[in-house]
Amino acid sequence: MKILVTGGAGYIGSHAVKELVKEHEVIVYDNLELGNKEFVDEKAIFIQGDLSDTKKLNELFEEHKIEIVMHFANYALVGESFENPSKYFENNLVNGFNLLDVMIKNNVNKIIFSSSCAVYGIPKEIPIIEKHTLNPINSYGESKMVFERVLRYYDTAYNLKSISLRYFNVAGASLDNSIGEKHKDETHLIPIVLDVALNKRDNIKIFGEDYDTKDGTCIRDFVHVVDIAKAHLDALNYLGKNMQTKSYNIGTGQGYSVKEVIDLCRQITKKEINVVIDKKREGDPPMLVADPKRFKEEVGWKEQFNINEMIEHAWNWHQKIN
Ligand code: UDP
Repeated sequence: MKILVTGGAGYIGSHAVKELVKEHEVIVYDNLELGNKEFVDEKAIFIQGDLSDTKKLNELFEEHKIEIVMHFANYALVGESFENPSKYFENNLVNGFNLLDVMIKNNVNKIIFSSSCAVYGIPKEIPIIEKHTLNPINSYGESKMVFERVLRYYDTAYNLKSISLRYFNVAGASLDNSIGEKHKDETHLIPIVLDVALNKRDNIKIFGEDYDTKDGTCIRDFVHVVDIAKAHLDALNYLGKNMQTKSYNIGTGQGYSVKEVIDLCRQITKKEINVVIDKKREGDPPMLVADPKRFKEEVGWKEQFNINEMIEHAWNWHQKIN
């Protein structure tokens, strides 16, 4: 199949491309604002471009006869989305609509969208099922929720079929240690803790330790980036067979607190990791743990890696790029 992967030079997109090229023809479209060109598998065709460039997108669809789109090219930082909602709505929504309209024009009727557990806001029930109320508390989550809803309207109106994958917290690196997480301004927990282990930072600031959780720090459901990549292959096959618009949680169903993650990093790296307690970060729900049953049962996905392996693989990668 000919697959267009937007954001295929980013952390999650590049891992998906690495899996997809084993079976499919892949065209990566990425503006390289946040992506790394060297992360794109050499079996994929790389085109540098922005989703606001409708002309370029149209030409790409015509030239490459795209059959399905995987849409990763979104901004994804909760903190930043508070300070700059217009940036989030402009790219994650307006540019997303551009992409959808080019798809419709070119008779492409399948898309897999990178959604997020941020659509749930502060969940009322844990583990979170897909039917849980959607009530995002930051513009990032709002943009994901609205885009999912738009996809449903596009199904009704234009017969566009989609699968939205609501990722929980993604971690780890490729098994051959060739690609991993590399952000210009890192904000994520595990990479920052590993930077402390590498003496690139003095400490890890824990954002709040008086949450109503077992040790007072936030709880998250971490899922390996390679498992996420494989979820895209499974979703692709499933969508081809079933042609129904759906949303799924992608997590392991296991929650770990920020303090537990830091302890695991200490054990795995065998390094001291200094901790400083800081104030809560705006927009952080206390607990986000998936119920991934629907995706597992309907689509047949299962995670291969646990939190220790995620940290081990991330640690291998961080030592390499140090
Ligand atoms: N976190 C933290 N210190 C940091 C970065 C993150 O305490 O320097 C916490 C954050 O408050 C959240 C969890 O770690 O509870 C995961 O945050 P991350 O930014 O990795 O992912 P998010 O859950 O925002 O997608």
